[in-house]
Amino acid sequence: MPFKSLGLHPLLIKATKELEYAEPTPVQAGAIPPALLGKDVLATAQTGTGKTAAFLLPILHRMIDQPRGVTRAVIISPTRELAGQIEDACRGFSAHTGIKSAIIVGGRPVGPQERALKAGPDIVVATPGRLLDLMSQMAPRFATVSTLVLDEADSMLDMGFLPDVKRIVSRLPGRKQTLLFSATMPPVIAKLAAELLKNPVAVEIGKRTATAVGITQAAYPVPQHLKTALLRYLLRHTEMPSVLVFTRTKHEAKKLARVVAADGFTVAELHSNRTPAQRTKAMEGFKRGACQIMVATNIAARGLDVAHVTHVISTDVPDVPEDYIHRIGRTGRAGAEGDAFILVSPAEESSLARIERQVGQRLPRVSLPDFDYKQAPPPSAGGGGRSNNRGGSQRPAPRKGPVGGAGRPPGRRQGPRPPR
Ligand code: AMP
Repeated sequence: MPFKSLGLHPLLIKATKELEYAEPTPVQAGAIPPALLGKDVLATAQTGTGKTAAFLLPILHRMIDQPRGVTRAVIISPTRELAGQIEDACRGFSAHTGIKSAIIVGGRPVGPQERALKAGPDIVVATPGRLLDLMSQMAPRFATVSTLVLDEADSMLDMGFLPDVKRIVSRLPGRKQTLLFSATMPPVIAKLAAELLKNPVAVEIGKRTATAVGITQAAYPVPQHLKTALLRYLLRHTEMPSVLVFTRTKHEAKKLARVVAADGFTVAELHSNRTPAQRTKAMEGFKRGACQIMVATNIAARGLDVAHVTHVISTDVPDVPEDYIHRIGRTGRAGAEGDAFILVSPAEESSLARIERQVGQRLPRVSLPDFDYKQAPPPSAGGGGRSNNRGGSQRPAPRKGPVGGAGRPPGRRQGPRPPR
C-alpha cells in the first residue's frame, strides 16, 4: 500500500519519497487515517516501528491549509535526544510546506527558546520540564493548540514526568485532538489514556510487550567479575559495526567507555553525568558512524534512533522487563535486523526469567568455547577488569570489520537464531 492511499497531502507524499519511505509501516497504516480525521489515537507501538511519522504526517496534513504564525500542535517527549529526533523528522516531512517547528528542551539557554516561541512556530516539540516553565510565562501562546502528542508515554512514567504532563495538559485548551504513543501499556498509562483521550482509535502493533521483529536475542551467562572481560572478547571477535552497550549506572558507563577505548575502539558515552553539549556530540558521533560503540545508561538512551545499530549489549539484567524491551528496541529499527545480547550473572537469572516471561520466549544461552570462564577476578575486582583477561589483551589488535578465524565468533552468522 503506497503512502498516497492514506489520503495525505501531495507535498507530504513528496517528502516521504525524498526520505525513501516506500510504504507505510503498520503503525502508520493504522494511526494516520483516524488521525487525519481528527480522532484521538492510542497507539501501542514499539520504538523503531515508524511511530514518529505516524503522528507527524497527519499533524502536518491538517495544518497545511491553515494560517501560519500560531502554535497548533505540541509534541511531548521524555528526553532531549528524542525531542531532537522528532524535530529533525518534522523538518524533513515539512520541507515543502513552509510549516515551522521549534524545540523546547531543558539543558539549553532559555532565551532563544522564548524567542522561538514568540515567533509562533506551528509545532512545538518539547520535554515536559522546560515546556511547563515556559507555559507559565507564555500561556497565551498555547491557547491555539489543537493537537497534543504524548510520545513514549511509558518512558515519561518511568522518568517521573507524569505529574508535569498532567499539568501541561491542564493548561492546554480542553477541545483538542490527543495522540498517545507508548511502547508498553502498564496500568498507569492505560488510566492516563482513559482520562485524556476521547473515544480513541486503538492501534496495537504486535504483542504489547513483544520485542521488535528482526531482533535476535541471546543471553551470555558469565560470573559478574568477568562481564567486562567477556564484553571485550565479544567486541573483538564478533562483527559489530555499530554497538550500543548498556550499563546499570553512569559510573559503570564511564568506566567501561574508558576500558573499551583503551582497546582501540572509538567510543561515545551517553549518561546523565555528561553535559547537554557532550550528549549531543556523543549522539552525533555515533549517528555519523565516527564512533563504533556507544556506552549508555537506560535513561539517556530512551528513544534513541540510530538507523544502523547492529548490536545492543546489556551488561546487566534490568529489574524491570520494560527497560530491557526499550534497550533492545534500539536495534532492528524499521524492519532492519539486529542482535541483542545480555550478559547474565548467576544472581541475575531470576530477573532474566521475568524478562523471558514478558517477551514470551526463553533466550538461548550462549557460552564461548574460547573464553576462559574460570579466570580469577582482576585485582581491581568489581564488574570485571582489564588485566588477567585471556580474551582481551593477549588478542591481536582490535578490528572493526569482519573477524577472521580466531575463536568462534558468536555474531549474526554463527550465533543462535531463536524463533521469532
Ligand atoms: P521511529 O519508530 O519513528 O523512531 O522510526 C524508526 C526509523 O524508521 C526512523 O529512522 C525512520 O526514519 C524510519 N522509518 C519510519 N517509517 C518508515 C517507512 N515507512 N519506510 C522506511 N523507513 C521508515
